[in-house]
Amino acid sequence: MNAEIIAVGSELLLGQIANTNAKFISKQLSELGINVYYHSVVGDNAERLKQAITIAEGRADLIIFSGGLGPTKDDLTKETIASHLNLPLEYNATALAYIERYFTTSGREMTDNNRKQALVLEGCEVLANHHGMAPGMLLEKNGRTYILLPGPPKELEPMFQFEAKPKLAAKLSAGGVIQSQVLRFYGIGEAELEVRIQDILDSQTNPTIAPLASDGEVTLRITAKADNNEEAWRLIEAKEAEILAIVGDYHYGYNDDSLASKMVEMLVRHELTIAAAESLTAGLFQAELAEIPGIGVSLAGGLVTYDAQAKVDQLGIHQSILDEFGIVSSECAEAMAVKVREKFGTDIGVGLTGAAGPDPHDGQPAGTIWLGFSFADSKPVTRKLQLQGMRNTNRIRAVKFAYSYLMR
Ligand code: ATP
Ligand code: MG
Repeated sequence: MNAEIIAVGSELLLGQIANTNAKFISKQLSELGINVYYHSVVGDNAERLKQAITIAEGRADLIIFSGGLGPTKDDLTKETIASHLNLPLEYNATALAYIERYFTTSGREMTDNNRKQALVLEGCEVLANHHGMAPGMLLEKNGRTYILLPGPPKELEPMFQFEAKPKLAAKLSAGGVIQSQVLRFYGIGEAELEVRIQDILDSQTNPTIAPLASDGEVTLRITAKADNNEEAWRLIEAKEAEILAIVGDYHYGYNDDSLASKMVEMLVRHELTIAAAESLTAGLFQAELAEIPGIGVSLAGGLVTYDAQAKVDQLGIHQSILDEFGIVSSECAEAMAVKVREKFGTDIGVGLTGAAGPDPHDGQPAGTIWLGFSFADSKPVTRKLQLQGMRNTNRIRAVKFAYSYLMR
């Protein structure tokens, strides 16, 4: 099944709002293994909306509309689709009762326009709106599926997720099931990963594989359709094995796993304690760990030593190290790691220092980061990163790199 999303609204074309509805729906469809081939945006204009629908019908079998279901004159999505498909509109009793109840309880006057919101396309399945007036619609016609959703994200998102998506899933599996699993990778770029598993990506049918990259990580969602769960998982596991045989070195987790959660798992499993001295990350290394339940037995604490003086006064680093090598240096990162480990009496000490950006810092270009690792039973190690990102991306990536280094 191939989909197109048509977002209706002149405010999108005027640059007043971003098309977050299309983003949301696309992500949800990828979870069903449905390919989205096109996003269209069209203003509140019946003529141009009809053109957009005609084009979509030539290239998609699932067409999803966002916006224009409201009571005002510029809301013309369902009227335009009704005229395009030659279908009458009819009142939906449930939606009408909901709207009437709203006006009675709020004591406001109900107009014909408000009543108009309860009109739906003849023969459609109504999608309940639990956060507003306008019901959504799912219509099968001429071998295509049309879904109409209201524009406000707080109405559209739950309606899609809880009303439309299960119906699509049922339709896709037609008596069978759909299962999916996300593989998470770190330390390999999206482009390289895709090149390395190109043959698998090119030949995918069932399961389908959807790659996604963000914040230095790459994920692959594997989605399988089958007659039963057992068969679906067999397909997923077989595909997973094929993929991991090639890029397994970079694989660190599944679904909702994060580098931080895997790091906590590792610390707890090996009964290791940890402390961190943080400069550019200013507590992020510890904060991300602290989000994971169970970290209490492993995280002793740490220090945020942002400026040079704090590194000397709070951590006890020798002034001569800073004078000779600078703050953004292997020597400084190592000293931070060693000192914080000694202070907190832990198995592992981590030091993070660097030039987050956008400006150079202490003579080092933006994105230069040094990480120090100190261990109770082996010599300290340092690692240098040369990142290109924005300030916050660099800080996040420094933390992720530190976790992944410790888990290697
Ligand atoms: P309403 O009953 O609120 O008029 P509607 O279904 O007619 O809903 P629109 O009038 O098209 O929808 O849009 C209502 C509001 O929803 C917009 O002002 C905007 O804030 C938000 N919105 C509409 N389309 C999108 C979109 N594609 N992405 C994100 N937000 C959107
Ligand atoms: Mg509107």
